[in-house]
Amino acid sequence: RIAYVNGRYLPIGAPAVPVEDRGLQFADGIYEVVKVLNGRFCDLDRHLARLERSLAALSIPMPMSRAALAAVMRETLRRNALSTAIVYVQINRGVAPRNHLFPEDVEPSLVVTVRRASLPKPRELAEGVRVITLPDQRWKRCDVKSVSLLANVLAKQKGAEAGCREVWLYDADGLVTEGSSSNAWIVDRDGRLITRPLGPEILGGITRSVILELAQTAGLEVVERPFSVEEAKAAREAFLTSTSSLVLPVTSIDGQPVANGVPGSITLELLARYRNHLQMPE
Ligand code: PMP
Repeated sequence: RIAYVNGRYLPIGAPAVPVEDRGLQFADGIYEVVKVLNGRFCDLDRHLARLERSLAALSIPMPMSRAALAAVMRETLRRNALSTAIVYVQINRGVAPRNHLFPEDVEPSLVVTVRRASLPKPRELAEGVRVITLPDQRWKRCDVKSVSLLANVLAKQKGAEAGCREVWLYDADGLVTEGSSSNAWIVDRDGRLITRPLGPEILGGITRSVILELAQTAGLEVVERPFSVEEAKAAREAFLTSTSSLVLPVTSIDGQPVANGVPGSITLELLARYRNHLQMPE
């Protein structure tokens, strides 16, 4: 595998990032994850717009123009000879002697890697996945796609140890914020689609934004409001969304089946519409 690191294409294992990169010392950086299907970048403009928003929130400049960055992503993809892939982009503030204050006159570091996409397996889509819930221990700017993911990592690990694919995090009021690496959705008893509104408590998922548009087109009633863990357990359907999970049915929450424990019809309808949006065959 080949990685792009600050102007060079290198084997992924090559020592390439200086030890005083602020990404290493402070997690002072942001990232993006973009899906590639059959050689096409999915929703690339939305991902690059979010990347620019994350950088702006941290006062890190773009390392190059949007078009140049897209060209680097394409070239890294090409060198890895994959047509269905996940492209990872990370931008750190730069390299400087360790000091909390922003260094002056540094250039941001840019790393791009590519790996084979591990999309949900047909069985996971057909049967749904289990989640557990845990308190949200992350910082108060989850709308920034920061590489500081320790709380997400610890939550996801606990979930995996409990045999679960994802963990739904809840705030001090018992309201679900989102998953450790995905957005959380339910369908209520009246067939309304519910997901938490955008705000500093959640990452504005690209998949979330696409699904909201597809839901409107489908004529579904959508309500962006917080929902509680209790409400999720009593919901008619539940699912999660992310770039690599697509629309993934959630059929068990904290060991309790959601409705009758099989993926719901609205969830499957949205998955079908999302596949269509991606021009992705069954
Ligand atoms: N929330 C969090 C915390 C995430 O890490 C992700 C995935 N990166 C998402 C939501 C989903 O975002 P997207 O649909 O853009 O992949």
